Amino acid sequence: MSLEQNPPSHSLSTRAVHTAAPADVQGRPVSVPIYQTTVYAHDDPALLTDSLDNPRGAFGYSRMANPTVRALENAVAGLEGAVGAVATASGMAAIHTALGANLRAGGHLVVQDSIYGGTTGLLNDLAARWDIRISQVPGDDPVALAAALTPDTAAVYLETISNPVTSVADVAGMSAVARERGVLTVVDNTFASPVLCRPLQLGADIVLHSATKYLGGHSDVTAGLVCYAADDAFVAGWKYAVATGPTMDPFGAWLVIRGLQTLALRVAAATDNAVELAARLAGHPGVGRVHHPSRPDHPQHALAERMLDGPGPMLAFDVTAGRQAAMEVLGRLRLLQNAPSLGGVETLAMHPASTSHRHYDAAALEQAGITDGTIRISTGVEDVEDLWADLSQALTPAR
Ligand SMILES: *Cc1c(COP(=O)(O)O)cnc(C)c1O
Repeated sequence: MSLEQNPPSHSLSTRAVHTAAPADVQGRPVSVPIYQTTVYAHDDPALLTDSLDNPRGAFGYSRMANPTVRALENAVAGLEGAVGAVATASGMAAIHTALGANLRAGGHLVVQDSIYGGTTGLLNDLAARWDIRISQVPGDDPVALAAALTPDTAAVYLETISNPVTSVADVAGMSAVARERGVLTVVDNTFASPVLCRPLQLGADIVLHSATKYLGGHSDVTAGLVCYAADDAFVAGWKYAVATGPTMDPFGAWLVIRGLQTLALRVAAATDNAVELAARLAGHPGVGRVHHPSRPDHPQHALAERMLDGPGPMLAFDVTAGRQAAMEVLGRLRLLQNAPSLGGVETLAMHPASTSHRHYDAAALEQAGITDGTIRISTGVEDVEDLWADLSQALTPAR
């Protein structure tokens, strides 16, 4: 490494400002460096112009592009089989970027009938603000989708595996119907992660993630990704993100890059744990329905076996004794933690009816498959015997 020093001809105050980075780093850094800079200097002015208009161009200003962030975008685009990706500061920013770039005032959206609560909130806001009409259909019903599409439909919005009862969307069937009518299919692939499903390969146009969950994987970074099947949609999405400004910061990108390195290992280990916990819960006398795609009585069990490379780490189950009993189960947990969010290495449990879905009325809860006793579990990578010991003591306390 050459030692660069600032020209001694300059005064101390000038030299203090102009610390030089090493001009020549011999050997490649094995970890992607954090480019904690908002702006880039160019000897060639044409490169600066390029950086402002081209998502694959030079680096000029970090709202448009940053080397650490681009490393993450390219990595996740590769995992999803996309032509390009835009990293965002949160999953909600990813959803807004994916939809906002494609919606017009007065337009129409078709949305899967049970989706993440935050997404429902955003869609209701867009509906009121921009006069967007929203139709709901089951995620596995292409016939209902065909009937719901209108000439104004901008997009169909699905979740590969939905919250909290793990419904599985028929991504291939739904996107084939949408494509025939010239409508984009947008898929939130947060619960499946690219390890279990690559929706673009099944015909979707845009796939997005809350990278806060499995991609990051350690409950320490809020982030999102939007991945595009086609170049024009990618460029339009990037321009919308540059204009509205939800783009990711380099340190957040670095944390997600680190999480990605163990994504496949984590998802596989957590899925194994979820399959085992779901089987044991199904045999427990205090438990009613168990929602997990591995279970033969799951409504999309066969679809999940065809479409997913594994049934996934998320599961839910009903405490038959009802709401108070479910709350007491959560209160007795010692290893599992009662917390929202998901996708980290630690196992989390929560009660949807009193938290994520507390604003739902009885009919909406029933439609979402949630009872008063439903508990959702985001399975982590701990030893499954320790997890079961804690769950079973919480379900059947010693008297
Ligand atoms: C958490 C989550 C989001 C929102 O992501 P944030 O990172 O919290 O903004 C969107 N979709 C799904 C399925 C989620 O689980």
